[in-house]
Amino acid sequence: MKNKLDLKDFRVIIKNINQTLQDNARYLSKLDSLVGDGDHGTTIARGFKNAVNKIEEEGPESISSLLKMTGFTLISTMGGAAGPLFGSIFTEMARVSGEKEKISLQDLHLMFSEALNKISGLGGARPGDKTMVDSLHPAVESLEDSISKDIDLKEALKKSSLAAKEGAESTIDMIAAKGRARYVGERSRGHQDAGATTLYLMIKAIYESV
Ligand code: ADP
Ligand code: MG
Repeated sequence: MKNKLDLKDFRVIIKNINQTLQDNARYLSKLDSLVGDGDHGTTIARGFKNAVNKIEEEGPESISSLLKMTGFTLISTMGGAAGPLFGSIFTEMARVSGEKEKISLQDLHLMFSEALNKISGLGGARPGDKTMVDSLHPAVESLEDSISKDIDLKEALKKSSLAAKEGAESTIDMIAAKGRARYVGERSRGHQDAGATTLYLMIKAIYESV
């Protein structure tokens, strides 16, 4: 049973996140089209494709530089309001991973929780605002819970991705308080948030990579 992730694992993780976003691009744009401008799936899929290309070209030699490259590519090629938010998740994870060559469950928890703090600070969203925070926040709490119960990495990621899934689904009943969806007010209720769904799919891809 693997209990730490190395550079090779992170390369696989980024590739698998890319694959899942390519597969779900239309679905994610459809979710965004119901309350926003309908670009989310195509922009996040394009951003990630660019990140994978850049990683293949440059061959980053540490986990930190691989994550930083991913984040910067999302920020510079996705655009919109969400590009910097999604990109910052990865640049923040890069910062927290530092010089580490292997990432434990504790490290991963800290990387995710700092990423959550970062995007909360940048975008001002709180749980309940119908954003990506609504799936990231329960995913982070689940990792913390697994650490306290001494659950292994793979099982902890499975639980975390289920918590993210439930978090994404919980946005259906919410009224958007941030992002473009807030312009439609009460009409945003009844639809699952696109960004929260993407975050869930990312965490699921991480789980399936381990
Ligand atoms: P844009 O709104 O620029 O068209 P996208 O369509 O790519 O960007 O992404 C929309 C997603 O971004 C939303 O579904 C929501 O999850 C997320 N989002 C928007 N504003 C915020 C915010 N202030 N904080 C966190 N997430 C946000
Ligand atoms: Mg959009």
